[in-house]
Amino acid sequence: MVAKESDLVQLPDGRQMPAAEYNERLALLSKPFTSDEIEKLPKQVRKNDDDRGKCEQGSRYSADGFYCGGWHARSMHLDYVGHAGITDRLNAVDPLWHWEPFALSTAGTPLLSDGGMWARMTVLGVTRIGFGDPGRNSGPNAIKETIGDFIRNAAMRFGVGTYLWSKSEAAAAKKIAEEDHDVELTQQRPPQQQPQQQPPSVDWQQSLIDARGDADRLAALRAMAGRAGAPPHYMAAVDAAIQECTPIEGTVTNA
Ligand SMILES: [Zn+2]
Repeated sequence: MVAKESDLVQLPDGRQMPAAEYNERLALLSKPFTSDEIEKLPKQVRKNDDDRGKCEQGSRYSADGFYCGGWHARSMHLDYVGHAGITDRLNAVDPLWHWEPFALSTAGTPLLSDGGMWARMTVLGVTRIGFGDPGRNSGPNAIKETIGDFIRNAAMRFGVGTYLWSKSEAAAAKKIAEEDHDVELTQQRPPQQQPQQQPPSVDWQQSLIDARGDADRLAALRAMAGRAGAPPHYMAAVDAAIQECTPIEGTVTNA
């Protein structure tokens, strides 16, 4: 039965609010951010690229024609909303939103495992799981970055900024795959060894990340994973990535 706008909705945590207000709050979760809330995050095109320099007009350190003024290796610039912007959005949607780590260390601090922190985020009474890691930060900054990264990651499970990530990441993955391919051609590498000869310790998750955005690589990965007897959830993830591979809007245009 369709709820009337004036009907009260009961949230899983027992709160009640008019259906119209509840729907507004839900819609606010996935509302696009304004351009002044969006930052640019450089994402390196090649993994092991020690050639860094200032990202300024005409410089080769930008792979997409956006010049951030930072100092980095040749990079794409991802659209990005920092955890402060995400937090503002969560506060607007539900001032009672909160998060808590999965587990605590013996010192009573959030337990770090798998290179980061698993935690739960609750918004409008609904709890979803997320993970944060410190990226390249160390020391106290690593903890703060881990929390910020978790907030971004978990908020995405509620639809916050999802469109930014999918579009921006897909564009970056495509560019990265293209430039990787160019490097392989110029270096005239011998053909890759047969998948059957690869060690069993192949990092499937990383392979999927690396192949993301490249239909050919994904198809090859799918075949390889099928032969290796990968579990259904992995195959489903590969299929989803293949699905995502359809041409995206607003493709990056640059020389
Ligand atoms: Zn830059």
